[in-house]
Amino acid sequence: MSKLARFFACIALGGFSAAVHSQAPSPELKAAHAYQAAVHDGPLALRAFLNGFPKGADLHVHLGGAVYAETFIRDAGEDGLCVDAAALTFAKPPCTAPLVPAAQIAAHQDLYDRLVNAFSMRSFVPTPGVSGHDQFFATFGHFHGISNKHVGEWVDEVASRAAAQNQQYLELMETPGFSGAAAMAKENPLTTDFAQYRQTLLALGLKDEVFLDREDVKAAEALRREIEHCDTPQATAACQVEIRYIYQILRGNAPEQVFAQTLLGFETVQAAMEAHEPGFVGINFVMPEDGFLSMRDYHLQMKMVEYLHSVYPQVHISLHAGELAPGLSPPEGLRFHIREAVELGHAERIGHGVDALYEDDAAGLLKEMAQKHVMVEVNLSSNEGILGIKGADHPFPLYRAAHVPVALSTDDEGVSRIDITHEYVRAALDYHLSYADLKQLARTGMEHNFLPGASLWESPDVFTAPAGACKTQPLGADKPTSACKAFLDGSEKAAAQWEQERRFRVFEAKF
Ligand SMILES: [Zn+2]
Repeated sequence: MSKLARFFACIALGGFSAAVHSQAPSPELKAAHAYQAAVHDGPLALRAFLNGFPKGADLHVHLGGAVYAETFIRDAGEDGLCVDAAALTFAKPPCTAPLVPAAQIAAHQDLYDRLVNAFSMRSFVPTPGVSGHDQFFATFGHFHGISNKHVGEWVDEVASRAAAQNQQYLELMETPGFSGAAAMAKENPLTTDFAQYRQTLLALGLKDEVFLDREDVKAAEALRREIEHCDTPQATAACQVEIRYIYQILRGNAPEQVFAQTLLGFETVQAAMEAHEPGFVGINFVMPEDGFLSMRDYHLQMKMVEYLHSVYPQVHISLHAGELAPGLSPPEGLRFHIREAVELGHAERIGHGVDALYEDDAAGLLKEMAQKHVMVEVNLSSNEGILGIKGADHPFPLYRAAHVPVALSTDDEGVSRIDITHEYVRAALDYHLSYADLKQLARTGMEHNFLPGASLWESPDVFTAPAGACKTQPLGADKPTSACKAFLDGSEKAAAQWEQERRFRVFEAKF
């Protein structure tokens, strides 16, 4: 396609008509032309273009699911574990036959292949009785048993991958220890008086685990910074990736345990936030939403979050909700999860939100989410793998049309065998997005991260006018005025958003 034809294709597809009259196209418009040229040239050209596109944040990442199978197998070898070739799991030593030492996997290529497949969606083809949903969630049961000492290495792996794709911020979901809280819950049946039940658990010493849970992520963060040689001249690019953590709660457990773990999560996040440490910033509920207990107790669990939010209002909340599809659950199960997550659970962000159009008064729900600025973490590959939902069956375009904020995320990039660039390519092609649309998605992720401080932008989710102090500045300027700099120094969120704008400026200057 000629340059001129590409230009007109861009005008037809994007939102850049105002620039038609401009004498010299702006760097942003040139980048938009290059983007449309890449779209025309196909997925590989688009991949190459989008790899360096400043993607900002990934707000929906499970650390365990983000690590690739190959890493787990190497770690098992280092830990001296064995491979159970029948179960495709790791086992404790001694590795007597038929167990195979994981360190000797090089001599067993066939077993290695089968392990990688069992730990991921690689080579998976649904068969009668085994769906993508079953395979996806089963993977987590296969790569168990590896020492926690590798967690910092896993954080480094994920951060390094993010850095290689010009991504600057991650919120990693992690489940720290909760055995004490679980034991207390087992001994004390849940009562309908949540305040009293909370007091009972606190009196029994539930907070004792808070310190350990905070130390968990602090140790992981310290190790990854050591691996990356941060704060030294040899610092790797991964050091530039800022990481915060989300406290995962297992929704598929008995109600008293869910309450106790949720309480521990709120306590831990609150303590981390009060200490201003770069650790936990929010909570989330995980495990299959269609599981027996998840479905039976959904409303009860949202009531728990509602109560605990009233006690710990500063703790941020993101909830997996609507990770369901027709047929996976009865129609009645699709009618209220997202709304309850928003209205009872006070979720600031929704993970997945795939069944939104099956909810009661779906139009009203989308309107409410737009009005409350509740963001949806969209995980396209995961949704196809687990739910079989893609293309026109996915509500992504409908959320956008309803002005509900949306951002792309990976969910479990190791299990899905993808990365964030893959998700951008997929969204761009499946939904015919313009360059401006992609910037909107990337900025939305940074707008809705859980970093403390005011937003860079004057109005929520409107990415045209920066807040007062930085209003007159070129976005992302290296040397903003002292008033703007003072504002950025006082807000971690705004500073990260400014950095994203700086990256846009650098990226677009190349075209
Ligand atoms: Zn998830």
